[in-house]
Amino acid sequence: TVRVRIAPSPTGNLHIGTARTAVFNWLFARRHGGQFILRIEDTDTERSRPEFTQNILDGLTWLGLNWQEGPFFQSQRLDLYRQAVQTLLDKGLAYPCYCTPEELTEMREAQKARKEAPRYDNRHRNLTPQQREEFAAQGRKPVIRFMIDDDRAIVWDDNVRGKVSWKGRDLGGDMVIARASGGEEPFGQPLYNLAVVVDDVDMTITHVIRGEDHIANTAKQILLYEALGSKVPEFAHTPLILNQKGQKLSKRDGVTSIFDFKEMGFMPEAVANYMTLLGWTPPDFTQEIFTLSEAAEQFDLNRVNKAGAKFDWDKLDWLNSQYLRRMPTEELVDLLVPYWQEAGYEFDLERDRDWLEEIARIIAPSLTRLPNAIEESRLLFGDDLAFNEKGLAQIQQEGVADILRAVIEELDNYPQFSQENAKSIINRVTKEQKVKKGMVMKSLRAGLTGELQGPDLMQSWLLLHQRGIDKQRLQQAVA
Ligand code: GLU
Repeated sequence: TVRVRIAPSPTGNLHIGTARTAVFNWLFARRHGGQFILRIEDTDTERSRPEFTQNILDGLTWLGLNWQEGPFFQSQRLDLYRQAVQTLLDKGLAYPCYCTPEELTEMREAQKARKEAPRYDNRHRNLTPQQREEFAAQGRKPVIRFMIDDDRAIVWDDNVRGKVSWKGRDLGGDMVIARASGGEEPFGQPLYNLAVVVDDVDMTITHVIRGEDHIANTAKQILLYEALGSKVPEFAHTPLILNQKGQKLSKRDGVTSIFDFKEMGFMPEAVANYMTLLGWTPPDFTQEIFTLSEAAEQFDLNRVNKAGAKFDWDKLDWLNSQYLRRMPTEELVDLLVPYWQEAGYEFDLERDRDWLEEIARIIAPSLTRLPNAIEESRLLFGDDLAFNEKGLAQIQQEGVADILRAVIEELDNYPQFSQENAKSIINRVTKEQKVKKGMVMKSLRAGLTGELQGPDLMQSWLLLHQRGIDKQRLQQAVA
């Protein structure tokens, strides 16, 4: 059965790239009835923080990405990695390297002077036991390096990119798999590439789906699988997320962590939906709105693009507006209340519930992000009428004051005001004033809201009437 994982490092909040990788892994697992496993790669003790781990768990949960196993923590599995390092030493596939940082710097500078790419020149690969003893006697603590044959060709059939080939010589020389010991042990902490392989083997991962920035690591890791006598999993490298200029998405683009989207007023369903489209094209590409489960029914790594995925704010905004529009009003109102409270609008949460729901229903079609609710509903909450340029121009047109006065007069005839009454008022005033109906509507909108655009006029009028502020506003407009 299919087993996939994500392996974030808790050195920062859940990053958008990691979240997108998580989405693809989740979809793949779901599609194949497999397991999605969460592993926290917290071996970098200096940069890892528990609050980042929490943020990662919370972010995945917010997006609806549940995992079947884990979270596992690498920091609790160090013995396993140490054993693997020892195995490689015992097999003669790894060796202690005693080079000092100064020697390595010197080596790199010489390479630079010769215009060569920097790499470890494997100088301690074939030390004699006696040479090792001498270095140790000088108090040098070795790192452990894994041998990489320069002439080795590494080829795999990537589930996204097709055939990928690497040369051993392009991997930077024999690679460090364990740090130097700080104490009496023969070596110190095992490093990323080794730990990943040990874990992926131990957790019987069948498909490694991760960002294309890991391609060189994959080449190295394949050599480690082989050296440890383990089956090599399938690989799929997903495209990078780019900004509109085609550069790697970064802090400057206004979003790094997943909860930035929450702050901006996006719905988790919309964000998750958008992430599925970031690099994946559904078979029916006219369908763009789907839940994760719906996407999973069609998900296929073959349809993940090789080219970088451009982040498109307009598309995300559009998706969000679709979700807000489709959402039950009883739920939407709960999401909007904090924004209304923040804006200082006055209402009583319990007493005014029906009225609030009515407002939510009226403004839902014009919302893109949740904070838009502040502006979209400002006039419905009975704030003082403020005209914008167009609203004012309308009010100042000849004949408009008469139209509005006629409406005010009519209003007294309808103590039980309804949408029907509103329509008859408009019809009567249209006839009486001998103007076009559109003129009456426009004038009313300007008089009631101060603007010429906004939520549905009839519904808005009704709401304003229920709060007893329609007449007052119209009077203010003609004053
Ligand atoms: N800790 C690595 C990262 O966050 C994991 C990469 C992998 O999936 O192997 O990039």
